[in-house]
Amino acid sequence: MSPFHSNIATLRHPEPQSTARAPVRPVFLPFAGCPYRCMYCAQDDQTGIHAGAIAPGDLKRELALEFRTRDKPVELAFYGGTFTAIPGELMQAYLDIAASLKKAGLVARVRCSTRPDCLDSQTLDRLARSGVDMVEVGVQSFDDAVLAASGRGYDGVAALRGCEAVHAAGLELGIQLLPGLPAMTPGIFTHDVFATASLAPSVARLYPLLVLEKTPLADKWRAGAFAPWAVEDTVNALAGALPVLWKAGVRVIRTGLAPETDLDAAYLAGPRHPAMGQRVRSLALQRLLEPTLLSIPGPVRLEYPRRFQGELWGHCGELAPAYARLGLHRENTVPHGPPWDGNLFVMSQLPDSAPTR
Ligand code: SF4
Repeated sequence: MSPFHSNIATLRHPEPQSTARAPVRPVFLPFAGCPYRCMYCAQDDQTGIHAGAIAPGDLKRELALEFRTRDKPVELAFYGGTFTAIPGELMQAYLDIAASLKKAGLVARVRCSTRPDCLDSQTLDRLARSGVDMVEVGVQSFDDAVLAASGRGYDGVAALRGCEAVHAAGLELGIQLLPGLPAMTPGIFTHDVFATASLAPSVARLYPLLVLEKTPLADKWRAGAFAPWAVEDTVNALAGALPVLWKAGVRVIRTGLAPETDLDAAYLAGPRHPAMGQRVRSLALQRLLEPTLLSIPGPVRLEYPRRFQGELWGHCGELAPAYARLGLHRENTVPHGPPWDGNLFVMSQLPDSAPTR
């Protein structure tokens, strides 16, 4: 942020710009390779796929049909299980499909998701040799007590080592965190966010923990032995996380689970909101702007990048009162577009305005 000179101050939004990438074509392999089913996990309901992982032969046929009508390459993403723990030959069969499509120019990139304790260097080298570009690691937390209470089967050091092994193999790293796990507090989540930033992943996903039907966590919740985070606490925690990750160059590609009909049916409790992403991003932006707004006496004029129009005031304008307290009102805001910098916010004191704050 540049300092406040006379009556103008600027702020550059710290979110890393996403480069144009091929659209992701997910291949969901629910529970494939998972050593056991985690207490909160319902990958079948989360992905809407109940028939189990697709066999490589079927996947090959499905993709061959699909690519007849696709005109642009995709990023093939193996999600929904523990990819690196899938038995050797089967994993290789999926990798071979991805490699041959990549060779044919139909697939631009390949990624997979896995657990941090299933990342030995031999397997990672195999992924790298087979053309995998990114490994998303379901770290969930780096905190020993949280990991133990959540039955994850590894500790914080193992989680760190798993992420470092991905870097060491020359692969891009993605990190997934699960705020709201058993024994997790907002303070522990903040530590997890800083640990994530220090590992410099390319992307992060923040999935607030939900209680889903047919999971052991649902039984605990029914017995009163587990309480999920409230929506407002979650929005607060995630809004605090975004700037930390953005400033470390991490793109946050999801805040909350993707909408899915089966997920709606399985949902029992927890921080779910239809505009979770917008609420979190909006609050993060308000907190970024607040110190500068406070430094300007009196009512303020704001020129802001047009692409933030849907975020500035928050979901249904919920942040308007907070901005009013900072001297900013809707009538004094102007969106700007190219050739202006798409990240630049310019704040100035309104002429002839008496300080009102
Ligand atoms: S959370 Fe990950 S490791 Fe655990 S069961 Fe679900 S997909 Fe498997």
